[in-house]
Amino acid sequence: MPSITRRKSVNVNIGGVVVGSGAPVVVQSMTNTDTADVESTVQQIAALARAGSELVRITVNNDAAAAAVPEIVAGINAKGWNTPIIGDFHYNGHLLLKKFPDCARALAKYRINPGNVSIGRKDDDNFRTMIEVAVEHQKPVRIGVNWGSLDQALLTRMMDENSKSSEPKDARDVMMEAMVVSALDNAAAAERYGLRRDQIILSAKVSGVRDLIDVYTELAGRCDHALHLGLTEAGMGMKGIVASTAGLSPLLLAGIGDTIRVSLTPTPGGDRSEEVRCGQQILQSLGIRSFMPQVTSCPGCGRTTSTYFQELAESIQSYLVESMPEWKKQYPGVEELKLAVMGCIVNGPGESKHANIGISLPGTFEDPVAPVYIDGKLAMTLRGDDIVNEFKVILDDYVQKRYGNVLVGA
Ligand code: SF4
Repeated sequence: MPSITRRKSVNVNIGGVVVGSGAPVVVQSMTNTDTADVESTVQQIAALARAGSELVRITVNNDAAAAAVPEIVAGINAKGWNTPIIGDFHYNGHLLLKKFPDCARALAKYRINPGNVSIGRKDDDNFRTMIEVAVEHQKPVRIGVNWGSLDQALLTRMMDENSKSSEPKDARDVMMEAMVVSALDNAAAAERYGLRRDQIILSAKVSGVRDLIDVYTELAGRCDHALHLGLTEAGMGMKGIVASTAGLSPLLLAGIGDTIRVSLTPTPGGDRSEEVRCGQQILQSLGIRSFMPQVTSCPGCGRTTSTYFQELAESIQSYLVESMPEWKKQYPGVEELKLAVMGCIVNGPGESKHANIGISLPGTFEDPVAPVYIDGKLAMTLRGDDIVNEFKVILDDYVQKRYGNVLVGA
């Protein structure tokens, strides 16, 4: 697969995780627990980390949340995770970071929304206070502009100037430009207040796919700051996944974006880690990073009248998700593994031969046998009621032999 030329950006070290063009694109996520509820928040961070989130953000919205932060960081460390924790601040971050120095120290990075940090003020003292705390504790900062909370004074001024111009632009274009200007102006201010360039990440989030592509293309061309990429409020389920993929892919293929978050709305009681897996899958589908063995399965058709084939594909996928946390530790490179689970003889053997391990199930009216191909060659034929488990044993064996440090003769 042809490689992608990353846009050059300054590397930022966030508690040991590097974000910038000198490092792989980082997948991050955010909790939705009440931060003051230490136990729930620790559990969710651990689940996100287990799913592969390399950075996790938590909201720090009040005294109780700020007071809980050091306990949360200690709690996840005690569980064996050293995932850097980012504090998300709005409105009162300048107060919380000053009042709770242990919180300021425990966090690996602060996210500041410049649109709501200085509401009702003519100066930027609140923003400055937050940057000064970051400088004091040597913490990086993300200046995260969001169109839902864009600096209204800046937008109004730019709209006024535009209306007086001889060739006024479309209001949407002015809004996009205001987001870029807000991000760049605040980054310049942060540098004036003492933050180093390698301590600043920028984002400019919108909820429309075309807007996202336009605003990030513009922002990327006008600075060398590392960029955090993502749709804000991507939506629920399929809509959120498709919109995020459609928005992030053209940018990532153009080398833009150093860390991504997929902001899915979970279903009530749904799995928050879905956003992590979605971000990983976007990067893996684009050939940018590998996280998980990939299963190629056909859609099925009239030749597969039973649900058996779908059940096998789902069972194998779940087995991979369950096994990967351990496999990753024991079998370096296992994320490159390719599997094929096919429904019948039409494309089954052909597709299976392109995978490391492939199984071609019997379609309607075919012999009730399932040939298994290993590294392109027919290795065995399964039959009977226990094909799923037998296939898992073959898979385990292959993973161990190919990716494990098996000592011959030991
Ligand atoms: S491989 Fe067979 S079952 Fe699967 S879609 Fe193609 S023809 Fe249908």
